[in-house]
Amino acid sequence: MSARPLDCEEVIERLFEYLDRELDERQIADIEHHLARCRDCFTRAQFETRLRARVSAAGTVTAPPRLHQRIRQLLDRFNDGEANTHH
Ligand SMILES: [Zn+2]
Repeated sequence: MSARPLDCEEVIERLFEYLDRELDERQIADIEHHLARCRDCFTRAQFETRLRARVSAAGTVTAPPRLHQRIRQLLDRFNDGEANTHH
């Protein structure tokens, strides 16, 4: 059935199932085969994996508010830094 390689769209569509290990071995092999060759999808898979690791480390699924706060803090820091270089 998998004579045809997956394209990027299909890999992204199945990425979550792949990360959840909800696919069968052949589907996993197809995706890993694609990830090994496609840097875009590999980067994306890596990003999702880290995000998940962080969310599960936090223990709850209610990470977004905290995440937003952190991003705001980072942006503030960026803005401050830029303001200082212009002074
Ligand atoms: Zn790809």
